Amino acid sequence: MDPLSDAVWGEILAHVRAHHPDIARGWFGQLQPGPLAQGQLTVYVADDAQLAYLSEHCTRPFTQAGQAATGRLISVDFAPGKSPTPRPRAGYNPLLMEEGSLQLSTDYTFENFVVGPCNQLAHASGVAVSDGPGHVYNPLFVHGSVGLGKTHLLQAICQRILERAPTSRLLYLTCETFVNQFVEAVEKGALHEFRYRYRHVDLLVIDDIQFLAGSERTQEEFFHTFNTLYQLHKQIILSADSPPSDIPSLEERLVSRFNWGLVARIDPPGLETRMAIIQKKMRMRGMELPDDVVLFIASRIKANSRELEGALTRLHGYAAVEGNRPIDLKLAQKALGEPVAAGRRTVSVQAIMDVVAHGFGVKLSELQGRRRNRTIALARQVCMYLARHLTDLSLAEIGGFFGGRDHTTVLHGYHTITEKRDADAAFRARLDEIEEAARQA
Ligand code: ADP
Ligand code: MG
Repeated sequence: MDPLSDAVWGEILAHVRAHHPDIARGWFGQLQPGPLAQGQLTVYVADDAQLAYLSEHCTRPFTQAGQAATGRLISVDFAPGKSPTPRPRAGYNPLLMEEGSLQLSTDYTFENFVVGPCNQLAHASGVAVSDGPGHVYNPLFVHGSVGLGKTHLLQAICQRILERAPTSRLLYLTCETFVNQFVEAVEKGALHEFRYRYRHVDLLVIDDIQFLAGSERTQEEFFHTFNTLYQLHKQIILSADSPPSDIPSLEERLVSRFNWGLVARIDPPGLETRMAIIQKKMRMRGMELPDDVVLFIASRIKANSRELEGALTRLHGYAAVEGNRPIDLKLAQKALGEPVAAGRRTVSVQAIMDVVAHGFGVKLSELQGRRRNRTIALARQVCMYLARHLTDLSLAEIGGFFGGRDHTTVLHGYHTITEKRDADAAFRARLDEIEEAARQA
């Protein structure tokens, strides 16, 4: 027995009003559909006169409308009384709750999504699509490798749309579910229902669409689903691990359609973004981390945000084992297994300053002074960066060496150099050379 969704019932009423305006009445809105069972839909009517009117004039129009709205051969009749099935509560989204449809995680919202240079475009287009589904970019295609926040972003879009329009018919699922349901529908001879389900939505969101490429028939089916929704200006949002043209054995016509709207790539997060994600995730767990610990984790774990999350969980666990003691750098190093490089302590700040002063053509006194000339400022930041890498000094101690600056200035210097290093190959080579020289000094 399927409870009839609000959406389908709304469509039945609209169909009757559109095709049989002569018999439609204002009070139709008060009718209560019962469940759809064995091809039979019973509509409950509280008022005797209304029941008589419906039974006499409306059986055929409602049956036709029911068939049009469900895509099934059903018949509609009328009965006195109230519907035995309670109506879905407000805000309940029937399609979201359907079998195989994924639940949205309350953690995966826009508020919890950190925006950085790596995901700016994907984020902005996600926001735009949430504000005007079907009107800005269609489809929106987000790609990036594993753990970079695609699922998080897709769910954030779904939740924003449902907040703004709670009755949107939104179907959010993994590609795997789409494929499985298609195969099942073929086996059961229930393609009609399958198509109805996928083609009568306002928004279709499919995660990891690269799994579509496995079968020709599934691609064919999705092609038609796509076309139908696209023509109706319904929003389609897809994610994948690579851009459309790089998905192996994806048919050309799908590749071209996936490129019709906006294709947004998510890159691995840079140091600053990793730090912001760590802070966000820790706050979500009700914890604050000192800056040097955040920097330590972000420098150690670079692959993706999922690994960051794993590291935080370990850290959390270690802190709990040690009687919930505040997390400091020592604890973080223990939790994440800091490899203590041999001879690490032997690099002195003095050696770093000597090498940098030589490499940049500045004076030692300038490195330790407060002048802000560009070359000097850069050399000073390189010193901070190397001191961070090659010594065990704390941020505050490093700041002390370089003109009495506080730990945030040191942190900022460290970021600036890290980003420059990642963005500029020539700079990186020069930095590596200086670092090597400092180790040797
Ligand atoms: P993907 O689907 O791309 O493999 P997920 O969306 O599952 O990646 O993200 C993996 C983890 O990293 C999740 O816990 C997610 O919340 C987190 N994450 C990824 N990117 C961000 C971000 N920009 N801001 C906050 N958390 C993020
Ligand atoms: Mg994912």
